[in-house]
Amino acid sequence: MPTTNDQRPTTGPSTRIGYGFDSHEFQPGIPLKIGGVALAHDKGLGGHSDGDVLLHAITDALLGAVAAPDIGALFPPSDPKWKGADSAVFLREALKRVRDAGYGVANMDASLILAAPKIGPHAAAIRTRVAQLLGVHADCVGLKAKTPEGLNLENAAVAHVVVLLEKVATSKNTRKKKAKRS
Ligand code: MG
Repeated sequence: MPTTNDQRPTTGPSTRIGYGFDSHEFQPGIPLKIGGVALAHDKGLGGHSDGDVLLHAITDALLGAVAAPDIGALFPPSDPKWKGADSAVFLREALKRVRDAGYGVANMDASLILAAPKIGPHAAAIRTRVAQLLGVHADCVGLKAKTPEGLNLENAAVAHVVVLLEKVATSKNTRKKKAKRS
């Protein structure tokens, strides 16, 4: 898989913002995973991979922040390879591209919109898992859940995510740049 190394800017903004959106339909008889956490429910989210709507939106926010191709371009739903895949795979690739571009995650914030199940009792576990995947402290992962009042979205889950990236000047990046110049 190609990386963004060749396009890595030598200078660039000290911060970058990324926004991601995703939605999936509930379907009976499949497991529900949100933010990398399995939730007990009578329906799961269908579609691409394991249907983890939150990890998909986070992945797109990370990719968008460094102007990389989006999740659908990198991991096409038409490719059977990604059927039932753990969405953490997508997030890790997005994070790699962020790091290759010379950035790290400062914080992220998410809004989930779904009628059920209630997210409140699982919010701490989801924030902890997402923080672990992003390599940040759980205090840097915001999560709100709302019911879809007036939206007629009783059978869907929607996620909106913003991420803030900070430029990092690691010795590894410096070495890579020196090697590229020589
Ligand atoms: Mg998706």
